[in-house]
Amino acid sequence: MFSKILIANRGEIAVRVIRACKELGIRTVAIYSEADRNSLHVRLAEEAICVGGAKAEQSYLNIPAIISAAEITDVDGIHPGYGFLSQHAHFAEICESCNITFIGPSAQSIRLMGDKIAAKDLMRKSGIPIIPGSMSAVRNKEDALKTARRIAYPVIVKAAAGGGGRGMRVCHNDVRLISALMTCQAEAEASFGNGDVFVEKYLQEPRHIEFQILADKAGHTIHLGERDCTIQRRHQKLIEEAPSPAVDHKLRRKMGELAIRAAKAAGYASVGTVEFLLDKDGSFYFIEMNTRIQVEHPVTEAVTGIDLIKEQIRAAAGEPLGIKQDDVKLEGWAIECRINAEDPSNGFSPCPGRITEYQPPGGPGVRLDTHVFAGYDVPPYYDSLLAKLITSGETRQEAIRVMQRALEEFLIEPIRTTIPLHKQIMNDPTFWRGQIATDYLDRQLHLQPSGESE
Ligand code: ADP
Repeated sequence: MFSKILIANRGEIAVRVIRACKELGIRTVAIYSEADRNSLHVRLAEEAICVGGAKAEQSYLNIPAIISAAEITDVDGIHPGYGFLSQHAHFAEICESCNITFIGPSAQSIRLMGDKIAAKDLMRKSGIPIIPGSMSAVRNKEDALKTARRIAYPVIVKAAAGGGGRGMRVCHNDVRLISALMTCQAEAEASFGNGDVFVEKYLQEPRHIEFQILADKAGHTIHLGERDCTIQRRHQKLIEEAPSPAVDHKLRRKMGELAIRAAKAAGYASVGTVEFLLDKDGSFYFIEMNTRIQVEHPVTEAVTGIDLIKEQIRAAAGEPLGIKQDDVKLEGWAIECRINAEDPSNGFSPCPGRITEYQPPGGPGVRLDTHVFAGYDVPPYYDSLLAKLITSGETRQEAIRVMQRALEEFLIEPIRTTIPLHKQIMNDPTFWRGQIATDYLDRQLHLQPSGESE
């Protein structure tokens, strides 16, 4: 087991990892940027090192500074959290070459699943359903038009290296496809350093269903059931729940088995997530695998009773998986609302600034993962996630009622947050019935189905 871990991240996930380490008896080192000097993760870790300026490139993405901090503090593991360097295959290799364990899958698995075209190809060869579309990177407009003709509009242009809902464009005709192709290639090159894009069928009103995978280095692989992440704004998740109202026991078994097959095909050993889109007719398709812990992992923890961060650390330490598939029991229901420093009534524009009034919710069925406190200054440089509010109950209805009550208690002032929007959704009869698709929120808010829709 590790004796000391450096957490190469900030915000709520750094706090979450520090807590797990403390419970495992592992010492912790926080890193921080100049903008995060007074952050909670800095206060909670045993040691803390400033790795650079406020901008992420200068600090949380600054590999030489992070490796120096790890060497100075003599850690034996680095936990990357999510975002930042968590899916950076070369960073994982650098850690290993410095004799520091990267707490995640192998660089090879990261690289393979980090390329959506290669990942889809591997899944197809492994007998896992994929969305019809181009089999390799689209080189020119003739290529793109030929594919669109074969699969029929609407289609979506996606960056092979895309993530976080970025680098995607929905197209309904040839003219739009040609312009989307050029902008997507240029954007993908600029944002991800890889201009490869592909075209696939755009499914109408699907649900986003993903499976949590847990695998050890000896190849034992299990799934911990699904999360339903259908409530999104512009292809980015906002509310997640476990289990899914659209998945019954039979479908769970089938999708779960394929998720395990997907992870095994990628040679996967850590926590990870296999994402699918579930179509209206009940067919489902692999879209990607996320090779890290995800923001929404707490809903799975709530219904399985399994601590995913501890399992991830144990797997990285080479411990054999202590849980068998048959031991995994899903009990009750859990929902997570992402509380972002954004103004939903103004195109979700970021709202950094000082929080002067802060009153967190509590009581039975409530879990709050956050780095926020009264007097905290929300910096403008990073992701706008302030807190994850997770509620659970025996039934979906009960989990929603607890969420409604917890949202009422929750005060974060004076900055704008997504709390009012969550209250609105929790009161919506369509949401209560669970009859939703990925366009639910954009329709309800009269937004474009995609922020980048062509
Ligand atoms: P990212 O890596 O940026 O998160 P994903 O490929 O995981 O991108 O897709 C994110 C979301 O975009 C999905 O949950 C879904 O809402 C939408 N999406 C992606 N591909 C398709 C598709 N072929 N048809 C319909 N919606 C899609």
